[in-house]
Amino acid sequence: MLTTRPILRRFGMYLCRDCINREYGVRLNREDVRYKYTEDPCPYCGATNHVVTSFTVTGLIKMRHVWEHRDS
Ligand SMILES: [Zn+2]
Repeated sequence: MLTTRPILRRFGMYLCRDCINREYGVRLNREDVRYKYTEDPCPYCGATNHVVTSFTVTGLIKMRHVWEHRDS
């Protein structure tokens, strides 16, 4: 099952949507992800963006495309 686990494994933390888009070269939209229900800032960029903890089906399709063509 494809989840956000590869992100956790690579970065040691969950990232916000902006960071995922930047680091993985994807274009995840709001409806592609599910957020953690806290107001904590992204631990990676420090911005007060919501941290992504899982993907919806459309998000999974976009991330699967990335992960199938890379090692991480
Ligand atoms: Zn971030």
